[in-house]
Amino acid sequence: MTHLTADPEAGLAAYAARSSQTLGRAQHEDPPHSRTQFQRDRDRIIHSTAFRRLEYKTQVFVNHEGDLFRTRLTHSLEVAQIARSVARTLHLNEDLVEAVSLAHDLGHTPFGHAGQDALNACMQPFGGFEHNLQSLRVVDLLEERYGSFDGLNLCFETREGILKHCSAENARRLGPIGERFLLRRQASLEAQITNVADEIAYNNHDIDDGLRSGLIDAAQLEEVPLYARHRAAVLERMPHIAARRAIHETVRRIIDTLVSDLVAESQRRIAAAAPASIEDVRAAQLLVAFSAPIRAEADVLKTFLHRNLYRHPEVLRMTTKAARIVRELFAAFQDEPRLLPAEHCARAQSEGPRAIADYIAGMTDRFAIREHRRLFAVGEF
Ligand code: MG
Repeated sequence: MTHLTADPEAGLAAYAARSSQTLGRAQHEDPPHSRTQFQRDRDRIIHSTAFRRLEYKTQVFVNHEGDLFRTRLTHSLEVAQIARSVARTLHLNEDLVEAVSLAHDLGHTPFGHAGQDALNACMQPFGGFEHNLQSLRVVDLLEERYGSFDGLNLCFETREGILKHCSAENARRLGPIGERFLLRRQASLEAQITNVADEIAYNNHDIDDGLRSGLIDAAQLEEVPLYARHRAAVLERMPHIAARRAIHETVRRIIDTLVSDLVAESQRRIAAAAPASIEDVRAAQLLVAFSAPIRAEADVLKTFLHRNLYRHPEVLRMTTKAARIVRELFAAFQDEPRLLPAEHCARAQSEGPRAIADYIAGMTDRFAIREHRRLFAVGEF
């Protein structure tokens, strides 16, 4: 019996994901009374331990370097905001894009990509480490909050959205959730939206954080047409605007351009493919995308950030240290599993290095730094 009076998903397009038609959860549960299945998923994600840890994990900068830089938590909220706007405009399921957005980075290691690359290198002989797959492991297995199952027991559609990429080898191992990578099919439009919203969010907040940190300057950004064009428009309309405000005005206009283009191009592709159901969406080509000119401009911005921010000597100095911390923690736990907390130690003895990777991946930046110091600082016992 449901207490929902009207169908909360009544206004959705025919090809949207619907809670009432979910492919279900691994463990059967009765449908929720006062919310949809996807709302329940979102709520479970918000209450998870891994979600709270996002506050102390970084994207580009190490967590304690400044209070105003994005963390994985604020990044995930920005992704959810952008994804929901797009979903609403396209009559797609906002609750599902919100759930996927909030969960998409749960599997990230401490120290952003440097941490993930280092852990992946450590895990090469044991099947590697991939943050997308780890996000799925968190919601499928690692969260310990419910009496009758491991993980959060989320709906197929939420899990499908979390697993953005996957190697063929892992896809074969994963069963139904991995099938689309083998059959070259697509995920739901909601999953596709979250994917692009992720890119829109990080490209734009990295401009903001990059400028705030002083690692890039506004003059350098003039080589990025998307930025230069909007900045010129801002300065023309508001010639006396203060420097910081001009950055925010510019970034806000870039986000607006990207979102508007994404909506228009996706509407065009959806109209052309004319899917009648979510199954048609899965069988079609990619339907959520930028137009070719905006795709090209977004790529220029991406390349700029790679060259000037992610590979800035200051960032490299941090990421080199971060990688070393991850490598040394892994080696220490592998040599002596009894250094792990009891439950992880037991898992490492029965399951091997994957348990160590799970433990390290769950660490926040500062926890990893502290743990490394406890294990390696000579003179501190
Ligand atoms: Mg992300």
